[in-house]
Amino acid sequence: MPAAGMLADARRRAPAGSAPLPTGEHAQSGDELEAGNKGWYVCAACGRRLAREDWVLDAGSQGPLVFANPHGRFFELLLVTHVVGGAFDQHATTEFTWFSGFAWRIGTCVGCRSHIGWHFEATHAGALREFVALSRGAVTLSRSE
Ligand SMILES: [Zn+2]
Repeated sequence: MPAAGMLADARRRAPAGSAPLPTGEHAQSGDELEAGNKGWYVCAACGRRLAREDWVLDAGSQGPLVFANPHGRFFELLLVTHVVGGAFDQHATTEFTWFSGFAWRIGTCVGCRSHIGWHFEATHAGALREFVALSRGAVTLSRSE
């Protein structure tokens, strides 16, 4: 099946029940930093723009995405196609991954180095190659333009 068809297929079937997987694709607009009247998710610590509101992935509307890390700390996640203003570790790992089939790297704000979330990349070919899970507690939605 062609890749485009797989994407469309994945989008139609919202995950139900188990860990929801986002079904998105990258916006590929050259002026995506400037465009529109959408809000931005910004770093809660320094206000740096991280992800536009319309980059948020539909994760199946199963309620909040809450995951615990191995230390027992809970995070509510906001999944987006990608971020600007984020720096991610060089090495990805599948250890303790929250999304089966995806390796993760920890990410920080390039403005203030606060932890903002994690980048996830597929370990095998599939419809969805990568996405970013922002920690809701680390970002604020800003509409002031
Ligand atoms: Zn910051």
